[in-house]
Amino acid sequence: MSHLMCEEEIHVEISPDVNNELWIGEMLITINSKQTHKKRFFCLVHEIGHYTLRRKREFKMRFPEDYVKEEKQKRTKQFVVDTLREEVLAWEEGLNYAEGLGIDFDMDSYNRQRTAALYKYIEWAVLK
Ligand SMILES: [Zn+2]
Repeated sequence: MSHLMCEEEIHVEISPDVNNELWIGEMLITINSKQTHKKRFFCLVHEIGHYTLRRKREFKMRFPEDYVKEEKQKRTKQFVVDTLREEVLAWEEGLNYAEGLGIDFDMDSYNRQRTAALYKYIEWAVLK
């Protein structure tokens, strides 16, 4: 898994005008620069998690086809739940990736940022 990044080139744009986001079609990760360096790094780890997740063959089997396509979707229960599933998995995948590289970082901070990010998604999921 940790070899994925060596085979393909992903560009990272760090700018004040972008969201923390993976643009898989463009092989681009955007990271907002109006955050501390630590937060930027954890966001990057998380977006790499999205990337490794979506590059796995089983992603298409474990998530429905219309979800994988990344088209603008209706807010169905399936879409909301699958979004949460992917977000949780991306935090874990990113951590696996960074640990696989032997990168040592502040786990307490990572856990706090993950909790805050996932909590926002949970609020998004339950509030209309
Ligand atoms: Zn995410």
